[in-house]
Amino acid sequence: MIHADLHIHTTYSSDSAIPPKTLVEQLVAHNFIKVAAVTDHDTVKGCSVTRQLASAYPDILIIPGVEISTPQGDVVILGAEEMPPLPWNVESIVDFARETDCVSVVAHPFREYGMGELARNYKVDAIEVFNGASAPAANKAAQNLAKEMGLPGVAGSDAHQPSELCTVYTQVQASLDVDDILKAVKNGLVSVPPFGNSIHF
Ligand SMILES: [Zn+2]
Repeated sequence: MIHADLHIHTTYSSDSAIPPKTLVEQLVAHNFIKVAAVTDHDTVKGCSVTRQLASAYPDILIIPGVEISTPQGDVVILGAEEMPPLPWNVESIVDFARETDCVSVVAHPFREYGMGELARNYKVDAIEVFNGASAPAANKAAQNLAKEMGLPGVAGSDAHQPSELCTVYTQVQASLDVDDILKAVKNGLVSVPPFGNSIHF
């Protein structure tokens, strides 16, 4: 079982103040969250830099990823090392994720830039059921959506400030290996603890 914060922005996102080095240091210091997905806005540059830094520490793992802005809402692609080809819409992102053995996740469906009920129209792999920057009601609605769609639910801090890192995490029945973790998420071998009220508020 690993514990992973599956939604983090580094300074490669224009609105984040978390240098890759700070994220790596946080994982090294944390007593049980040793895995994080770097999901910058519309770029995978931060992932490669962060993975490079993390490679010095055998007990932590960075999952590459990206949070793609589509006209319908944000989609996180876990496992993405390259950018999906344009144009970006939910369907093209979901297809890209499937073709590249990545995992498509509907980010914060019931918040700004979330796709809400539209998610039901797409063959996404998972729903973000707890986002550290979403209000409790929005997370509750996301949990219901995942349940109704029969999809795995994942959690991430959506950290943009160092203090927000690892405030939320997903428990994954997998080893410390990117492919193993991606497969486990797809197969629903995940659980999200009851965090209570969201953390950033
Ligand atoms: Zn985000």
